[in-house]
Amino acid sequence: MNLDTGIRLAYLIAAVCFILALKALSGPKTARAGNLIGAAGMALAIGMTFATPSLSRFGLMVGAMAIGVVIGLPAARLVKMTAMPQMVAAFNGVGGGAAALIALAEFVKATPGSLAVYQVVEVLFGIVVGSVSFAGSAVAFAKLQELMTGRPITYPGQQVLNGVVATGILGLAIAACLSPHNWLIAVIGILGLLFGIAFVLPIGGADVPVLISLLNSFTGLAVAASGFVLHSVVLVVAGTLVGASGTLLTRMMSAAMGRSLPNILFSAFGSVITATAGADGTSGDRGVRSATAEDVAVLLAYSQKVIIVPGYGLAVAQAQHSARELADLLQARGVEVFYAIHPVAGRMPGHMNVLLAEANVPYDELKEMDEANPEFQSADVALVVGANDVVNPAAKNSPGSPIYGMPILAVDEARNIVFLKRSMRPGFAGIDNELLFDPKTTLLFGDAKDSLTKLVAAIKAL
Ligand code: NDP
Repeated sequence: MNLDTGIRLAYLIAAVCFILALKALSGPKTARAGNLIGAAGMALAIGMTFATPSLSRFGLMVGAMAIGVVIGLPAARLVKMTAMPQMVAAFNGVGGGAAALIALAEFVKATPGSLAVYQVVEVLFGIVVGSVSFAGSAVAFAKLQELMTGRPITYPGQQVLNGVVATGILGLAIAACLSPHNWLIAVIGILGLLFGIAFVLPIGGADVPVLISLLNSFTGLAVAASGFVLHSVVLVVAGTLVGASGTLLTRMMSAAMGRSLPNILFSAFGSVITATAGADGTSGDRGVRSATAEDVAVLLAYSQKVIIVPGYGLAVAQAQHSARELADLLQARGVEVFYAIHPVAGRMPGHMNVLLAEANVPYDELKEMDEANPEFQSADVALVVGANDVVNPAAKNSPGSPIYGMPILAVDEARNIVFLKRSMRPGFAGIDNELLFDPKTTLLFGDAKDSLTKLVAAIKAL
């Protein structure tokens, strides 16, 4: 076997590793192994690239990789679990930007007129999609990192303006195919960046993870396009895998929220708060039942079955360890306890599973929505920790509601409901939750971590 065949074979093995990694990453038990398999595939692909005989400028390559390692390694190690969405946005953005730059470099490097139309199309695709992904991810990062408002930014004629920019890109791309010039390609790249920014501005903070998943599929496609430009099979395969998995994830997230992708991208969801009670943090003139930690502790300690429903508030309060401590304590008293996980609880798919796994909650105590829902009828208490939209019965009872159709956890069927939240403010969707006013609901106001810590102390004192 000559070196060239060996390299191709290694690339094939790397591609198989990526596929196996994706498969393993789909379940919590195998996810760690999946990560390692993916990393091994990537190491093999990089190693083989260095073995390519025609390669030169090793110094530049090693230098670029060293910069990546110096920035990426500490960032990945130090990132907090709640900051994971913005980390993904940042990594995705640089992937898209790199793909665009590769396509641009290949175009500039080619002798003028030597590229066939299909090659110019490959280059243009890589530049446009890569720069949209780069700029869009940068704005998504700024929103999630709270460097700018997380609320949708809208202005009159926004979609028309976006349409004009998109049409401009298309028109110039056709012109570039007919007569490719460096300046034309540069203008297209700049318009791609502008479009990426304009496209993301009207998308609200909590919808940004869906957007990142979509931008991730864009990055995959841009990488696949640069694979065609560079005649690199492994880039084509890896890019296509990222593109396909990003698309599937986007679809799954939209379905879990009961909303269409166009609704997520174009409706500026979350910009209007329609909740009558709660927008100002109070219950308006409607009565709610609040209780002390001691009262709730008694209710929990003398229950037979408690279902914990974690939401975004648990994630921001970093209350996963306290939740586990409470569950352990109740279990030690003979109470059956498990966690009901909504697919979009939190701000990223799988976010809750990862957070609770970090607190060493056993996997068999995490029940997915379909498995958990039949259990609420027989639960003495549904303990809702910093969740709101994912338990709002308006999703099944109010056809006019913006979340109508979103699958929800059947918390309303439990005998007692306890909400741990700080105020009467609504969740991300900005709408009333009638469950807060239900006679069988008790509210324990406060930061989720503080409230759970108080509950633990109160149960210990019983
Ligand atoms: P919500 O945003 O509906 O509600 C979060 C609740 O947590 C609020 O009621 C808030 O009330 C409370 N809260 C916030 N901070 C704290 C704190 N420190 N301590 C205690 N409570 C706190 O979250 P859900 O998890 O129910 O729903 C997720 C939402 O995100 C859905 O609308 C979903 O569509 C959306 N989404 C999720 C995605 C995903 O993939 N996971 C992707 C895109 C969107 P208060 O301010 O009174 O404390």
